Amino acid sequence: MLLRSIAAPLTAIKGIGPAQVPKFARLGITGVAGLLAHYPRDWEDRSVRVPLSEFHRAQVCTEVTVLSRDWIGFGGKFSKKKSTLKVYVEDESARAALVCFNRPWLEKQLAPGERFRLWGRFQYKFGDIQSTAFEIEPASEEPSGTGILPIYPLSAGLSQAMLRRFASRAIEEYAPGLEDELPPEIRARDGLLSKAAAIKAIHFPASPEELECAKKTLAYEELFYLEIMVGRRALERRGRGGGARHGGAISGGAMSGGAIPGSASTSIAPLAFSPLQQRLAERLPFRLTPGQREAIGEINADMALKSAAGGGFSMSRLLQGDVGSGKTLVSFLAALRAVDDGAQAALMAPTELLARQHAESAARLLEPLGLKIAFLTGNIKSSGRKELLRNLAKGEIDIAVGTHALFSRDVEYKNLRLVVVDEQHRFGVMQRSLIVGKGSDGHGGPPHLLMMSATPIPRTLALTVFGDMDVSVIRDLPPGRKPVKTHLAKESSEERVYDFARRLLEAGSQAYFVYPLIESGDERNLKDAASMAERLAKKVFPGFAVALAHSRLDEEEKRRTMERFRSGEIKVLVATSVVEVGVDVPNAACMVIEHAERFGLSALHQLRGRVGRGKEQAYCFLVYSDELTDDGKARLKVMLESADGFAIAEEDLRLRGPGQIAGTEQSGYFSLGIADPIRDIKALEKARADAFFILENDPGLVLEGHRIIARVLEEAPPFSAAML
Ligand code: ADP
Ligand code: MG
Repeated sequence: MLLRSIAAPLTAIKGIGPAQVPKFARLGITGVAGLLAHYPRDWEDRSVRVPLSEFHRAQVCTEVTVLSRDWIGFGGKFSKKKSTLKVYVEDESARAALVCFNRPWLEKQLAPGERFRLWGRFQYKFGDIQSTAFEIEPASEEPSGTGILPIYPLSAGLSQAMLRRFASRAIEEYAPGLEDELPPEIRARDGLLSKAAAIKAIHFPASPEELECAKKTLAYEELFYLEIMVGRRALERRGRGGGARHGGAISGGAMSGGAIPGSASTSIAPLAFSPLQQRLAERLPFRLTPGQREAIGEINADMALKSAAGGGFSMSRLLQGDVGSGKTLVSFLAALRAVDDGAQAALMAPTELLARQHAESAARLLEPLGLKIAFLTGNIKSSGRKELLRNLAKGEIDIAVGTHALFSRDVEYKNLRLVVVDEQHRFGVMQRSLIVGKGSDGHGGPPHLLMMSATPIPRTLALTVFGDMDVSVIRDLPPGRKPVKTHLAKESSEERVYDFARRLLEAGSQAYFVYPLIESGDERNLKDAASMAERLAKKVFPGFAVALAHSRLDEEEKRRTMERFRSGEIKVLVATSVVEVGVDVPNAACMVIEHAERFGLSALHQLRGRVGRGKEQAYCFLVYSDELTDDGKARLKVMLESADGFAIAEEDLRLRGPGQIAGTEQSGYFSLGIADPIRDIKALEKARADAFFILENDPGLVLEGHRIIARVLEEAPPFSAAML
């Protein structure tokens, strides 16, 4: 029997009655299978006795006699609600106090003279050895356990002792019948436990070594199936495309199980432009960079597959390229390819500001080609929105640009063939099912997906959430860009920065001033965008038009401000990090970021990328607090040493630690049962290699040792496909 196939209800366990079922439900446990997989959050070794006198050395584990009881705190013993029970106990080594916060019922149990087994952490406080977090058990009763005991996540009405008892009964009855879910050759190679032994040992290990082995086994099993599912999706996506390109199977790309999946189409000569692509390329005042050409070649090859094979190959491609490398144009060209096929494309940006900018560039570049572009955000007024949605559904709009509102429930596409997600890291780990569900065209599969990012995907995500995607990288920047000159400045010398900015403004350039907050409120030492906009306008740059842009302004006002900045009417734009992503105004050559220490390095890199887009030499000033520590300064210095977004992002991740990956919290991905893909990255890599090797060599999972995988996937998959 597979663990997840055990259908027995909780009440099948002796001692669990219907009244207790809801208490388990609160822990997410709905049956015996859930109880077996309710892994302890910690373990406590009760095989070693630690008397009270040794409390400073370790957690106490002893047997005591109750001496006396007292009620302490306001109210005395007449108002038990407001006072706390304090019980004195002793073992052969010392006397101690148990402070029973919120456990008044212990008074009955802890009667003087009674003997109890006692576990807990003790401190020396107010003249006593005392504890507020302890566990007791009458010495007259059977011990709820000996040896290494599990500590479970609990909910109201369930105690450790109860869970231990029930888990132990469930194990006794059901564990022996559990089948292994890992192929035997992997188990043998890594010395992993059988499923039955692992489940028993994760709850009640015989030794610390056995516990480690159980953790390793169960974590590996989880990661293995995670990668099996990622791999299967890659296989399905590619497999459906069929055709010669995949003749050598999937080994070249994502399926190599190694680093970030490479491009599956590198061996293909770039295809010729489609007619609309050709027309756009001819209208551009510049040539595409080699990196842009290569990316388009790969995208075209992917998009051509569906028509060639008649099947439903869906592109799933990550386009990485540093800030300013021209990803937007690549996405427009990809959209044109979809339109040439008689279909629609949707381009999603993380903020309204950026979405609007993309919509405007799309209108400027693509409308002259006869395309219909629509702009859709959550803010579009309802009357216009209705008509827009109607046109989208009728297929009268070729390209929809917007925020995540593009995928609201009421939005329907006639024939959506391509979805572009810009600055994917801003969305965090998003459920791709959201997008996939909008594809309704006849090509037999979900729409092609192109995700774009200036920051490299952290390795953990590259192996999991994005583990089935192909990657295109633009390594070059458009020619003629002068690197931005970056300077660090102390807050106390800000006047010199302002003077420098003034000279640039006088020479006809424009400037950004960026602050961490819109309004600083209580933090009086912090400059904020709102008050600085005023000060810069009145005191610092009186001769120049200054305007404010931040996320709280209403959309129309923000749009007008950006328009006036773009047209050059506004010279100084004071903003929060709303300008971080993607804003493109080539005449702006000066970026001043105050309180720079408050921004992440990747954010600083993005902000700096807003300038240096024109012909003039551009400057970036990072103004930091006079009190900044040496470590803080060292961090900012990374910005002086590197102009490479990938290197900066990696340094940023290293400095912040891996736990900070944007958006992973809500993904559900990183709350696996016992494995932690960030902590267990080595095991994850191994599991990926194993899983991909198996899928590649035995795609039908027909070999003897692999049949179990097919069964698990069919009968009781550990993850829902929507999660991936
Ligand atoms: P990012 O990759 O950061 O999204 P953008 O798409 O915003 O970069 O492009 C930055 C700027 O470079 C835009 O003004 C765009 O018009 C310009 N650009 C794009 N491709 C080229 C090219 N091949 N040659 C010159 N300029 C280009
Ligand atoms: Mg961009």
